[in-house]
Amino acid sequence: MEIILNNVNFSQYRSKTFKGTAFEKSRTKCNSKNMAEAGFYYCQTDTENDLVKCYACGAEIFGWNKSTDDPWTEHSKLSPNCVYLSKKRSYANELTVQEFLEILSQQQA
Ligand SMILES: [Zn+2]
Repeated sequence: MEIILNNVNFSQYRSKTFKGTAFEKSRTKCNSKNMAEAGFYYCQTDTENDLVKCYACGAEIFGWNKSTDDPWTEHSKLSPNCVYLSKKRSYANELTVQEFLEILSQQQA
């Protein structure tokens, strides 16, 4: 079970990828939990220090304004047809198992 959960398909794991970054310390909407709930995980790169990627549609965003940006809004602006956003609908909404599997079957990341 641990092996399966250790994967960007799970929000708890995505949240962990922000450990040690400015997102983790953020008290705004750009915090680790919201980023993960909006589908994003943190990408370690040499060039951009805040590059994140959606596990479902593969959308990449960097250059966050952590005081004003909302990860959900930024995600839907860049990738309005993302299957994850269409199933999840809001931060609070939990996916059903069927929705979870549907997203995996359409994954483009
Ligand atoms: Zn997406």
